[in-house]
Amino acid sequence: MATLTFLGTGGGRFSTLFQTRATGGVYLEDGPARLHIDPGPGALQQLHEAGLDPTETTGVMVSHRHLDHANDANTVIAGMTQGGTEERGYLVGSKSVIEGHGDEGPVITRRHRDLVTEHTTARPGESARVSGRRVRFLDTEHRDPTNVGFAIETSEGTVTYFTDSVAREDLIEQLPGARVLLLGITRPRGAGIPDHMSTEDAVAIAERVQPDLLAFTHLGLKLLRGDPEAEARYVEDETGVRTIAARDLTRLEIEDAITVAHPETPEMEAKG
Ligand SMILES: [Zn+2]
Ligand SMILES: [Zn+2]
Repeated sequence: MATLTFLGTGGGRFSTLFQTRATGGVYLEDGPARLHIDPGPGALQQLHEAGLDPTETTGVMVSHRHLDHANDANTVIAGMTQGGTEERGYLVGSKSVIEGHGDEGPVITRRHRDLVTEHTTARPGESARVSGRRVRFLDTEHRDPTNVGFAIETSEGTVTYFTDSVAREDLIEQLPGARVLLLGITRPRGAGIPDHMSTEDAVAIAERVQPDLLAFTHLGLKLLRGDPEAEARYVEDETGVRTIAARDLTRLEIEDAITVAHPETPEMEAKG
């Protein structure tokens, strides 16, 4: 079984600043592999909330340099390397994260890069083995032009993380084969913005890719002020693809079947 925990489901400037949803990234456990993807602000706190141990992480993967994805990357590397006392683990990041891009220096400090056993600059079309799992790096179109998506081959099929991009047709063509597809859906129907995806994009992608489960994450403020669950139902009704709007600390248990466990949240109680 592979387990995926949403440490945060917020994304974009304002849901991050106001912490309307947390921004701790996504945590994938598959056998001995423990991969922390996109540790944004509050990642460590969310790990503790989820009952996960930062010193057990075996790989840190950062899609691009924006704060909602990368802010706490050095902190979770400190966790992975036992507080910086052991050379340990694997780091994958976009060029902007590992080497710097344009006028901007790298997100990862020299010290933290040197603490990990191995690091790779993720370039679209290439792949690497991270904690024993093959990861393909996907092309995107975003304001950080070095941004990448990740297609991770787990023991239970491919888990694909594709966020902060537009849904250009040739980019969608990289996604088939995904069993679980995490999409950064920042905006609701009829309210798309440049550089990000909306519910309509989720429909087009679901139709093409036909994953067993599609999960929205990286939810923006306008989507959160509406009804993310209704947007997910719309995608499912339009395409027949099982679709959820993930919540903070939602867990997926991926085996022959995929079980979705949402946490009890005050938000739910208020609605109930
Ligand atoms: Zn973002
Ligand atoms: Zn971004």
